Amino acid sequence: MKKVLLLKFGELFLKGKNRHEFLKLLMKNILNKLNGYQLKLEETQGRLIISDYDELLEDEIIENVQKVFGLIAVMPALEFETSLESIESRVKALELDSFKTFKVETKRADKKFPMSSMELSAHIGGVILDEFDWLSVDLYNPDVVVNIEIRVNGKTYLYNKLLPCAGGLPLGSAGKGLLLLSGGIDSPVAGYMMSKRGLEIEAVHFHSYPYTSVQAKEKVFQLAKEISEYCGKIKLHVVSFTEIQEQIHRNCDPEYMITIMRRIMMRIAQRLCKDNGLGAIITGESLGQVASQTMQSMNVTNAVVDIPVFRPVLAFDKEEIMDIAKKIKTYETSILPYEDCCTVFLPKNPVIKPTVARAEYNEKFLDVDALVEQAIANEEIVYIDCDR
Ligand code: ATP
Ligand code: MG
Repeated sequence: MKKVLLLKFGELFLKGKNRHEFLKLLMKNILNKLNGYQLKLEETQGRLIISDYDELLEDEIIENVQKVFGLIAVMPALEFETSLESIESRVKALELDSFKTFKVETKRADKKFPMSSMELSAHIGGVILDEFDWLSVDLYNPDVVVNIEIRVNGKTYLYNKLLPCAGGLPLGSAGKGLLLLSGGIDSPVAGYMMSKRGLEIEAVHFHSYPYTSVQAKEKVFQLAKEISEYCGKIKLHVVSFTEIQEQIHRNCDPEYMITIMRRIMMRIAQRLCKDNGLGAIITGESLGQVASQTMQSMNVTNAVVDIPVFRPVLAFDKEEIMDIAKKIKTYETSILPYEDCCTVFLPKNPVIKPTVARAEYNEKFLDVDALVEQAIANEEIVYIDCDR
């Protein structure tokens, strides 16, 4: 007998011919996430199984597996040679103290096993009732389900715990995008959400050193590290926005300052996408959250790019975004009180309904192309990995 982890995957089933590719990618991602652990990962009969690991490390391994997109659950299980006696004795050794009601579910792929699934479930139900006298059967809403899977390979798997995983699609199955990563609450969540749908990410952060502090930049590195738990290694482009902001401040209508800033951020982002083979820009904007996130503002910023801009938290309330930030553990870092470049020279009354024409008029007072070029020429690249 040995302990194993059964892994359950989700939407992969929907992918028809691509299913095999998805599964290969998923397995690669699982092994990446478990890099450094001695173990075996294999696919048998539509299931992924992790085995041959140090049992003392099981909790750690589970914690890592729970962060792999494409998996919906992990079940710590016992694996043993199939026989009625061994199933009975393993079931008697289960820890069921904290439950009052149960049911047994059997999947019998091995048709040579002498009982049908129904018969075995009923039989084992009887064994449990005899052994654990405080338990009773509840077929509709049991506290615990005792699962028995009898495989054709002569092995039986027994489990009663189903731990949720991150869901979504395997990282890399949807291509690559560029996350505009600030030090706030929303953009790390936006990156997480797009990765959950299979998008690998690089990130760009704009800083206004010396107006913004070194700590503000380090906070962003920390956030990138926190989301890389889920999103994998991240190439982070760190771009100075200082000169751009000074010039906007000097030459443009204060009302339009944020609009112009955001249009230049988008142009730089688009250039980085084209130079690095990335297919979309991702932001943490949420409709109506601030003046620069009205429909009109977003249209005016979209007007300077011709690649898709994904805004996964667009329709989320702040509370909902915060809930996710807490779940993925970026929240505590996000609320550290370091200033963002957007708050430097902040105008009192930013325009709520900007127009493309006014924005373009304001940009006539800047050499936008040169500013974009210069910012990219001076970028600093940092590779972020949650393991380091
Ligand atoms: P966040 O909580 O993500 O900072 P926010 O609510 O503070 O968002 P804004 O500051 O208006 O909103 O920024 C909107 C989006 O623009 C951010 O979610 C992020 O994607 C991008 N952004 C803002 N500032 C920066 C920055 N300094 N570097 C990179 N991207 C940024
Ligand atoms: Mg912000």
